[in-house]
Amino acid sequence: MSIEGVETIKAPCPKCGGYRNCVVRGRHSETVDYTEYPGQVYECTTGHLLQCCGCSALFYKEQFYFSEETEEARDPISGEWGVVQVTHDRYWPTTEARARPEWFAQLPGIDPRLKDLMTELYSGLDNGLSTLAGIGIRTCFDRATELVKVDTNLSFARKLDALFADGRIGSTEKDILVALIDAGSAAAHRGWSPSSGDLRTMMDVLEQFIHRTFFLRHESEQLRGRVPGGGRS
Ligand SMILES: [Zn+2]
Repeated sequence: MSIEGVETIKAPCPKCGGYRNCVVRGRHSETVDYTEYPGQVYECTTGHLLQCCGCSALFYKEQFYFSEETEEARDPISGEWGVVQVTHDRYWPTTEARARPEWFAQLPGIDPRLKDLMTELYSGLDNGLSTLAGIGIRTCFDRATELVKVDTNLSFARKLDALFADGRIGSTEKDILVALIDAGSAAAHRGWSPSSGDLRTMMDVLEQFIHRTFFLRHESEQLRGRVPGGGRS
């Protein structure tokens, strides 16, 4: 397909999401031959610089195929079966696997280090790196507890006791966080790879903890300051 003479292809835009028409701004192929006869047995990698027609975001597509990797497929127009080349497509950046919370953009104002850790964590999730994401969740939680002045030398269980005693978490949340920390420890030490459902639950807990601790608490303190007689009861 082309728009005003410019080549376009459909590709998943990492910014506005979903498959969009994208202008092909650049393309280059590299071929590796496996025999002395070029084009007999070979692999080919093609890089594309793409630009989304919807939001103008720039991103990269890499298409790979090996000449001997073929499959039977039905022609969508004639309906006849035939042998077709199998191709593998990858994109960078990938589309976001988990939407960033509203407060995420304000996180550098709370702690730039926590923002960096969370950014890497979301990147791991976007790229399907489930074990690293599991470890990252625990690392982010560890940093968040450090920010509320919980002794960094305490064990994770003792840190939770301190948060509970300080009224920062309730007993149910404490139980969930124990599970979260166990899961993160398992990912780090015992070769456990969390499922997408496990990761979703762990991320829910982590995001809620950060939101409540660093944003809601601050907002409620500001609100109390604005209400006449606030803070006395
Ligand atoms: Zn877009």
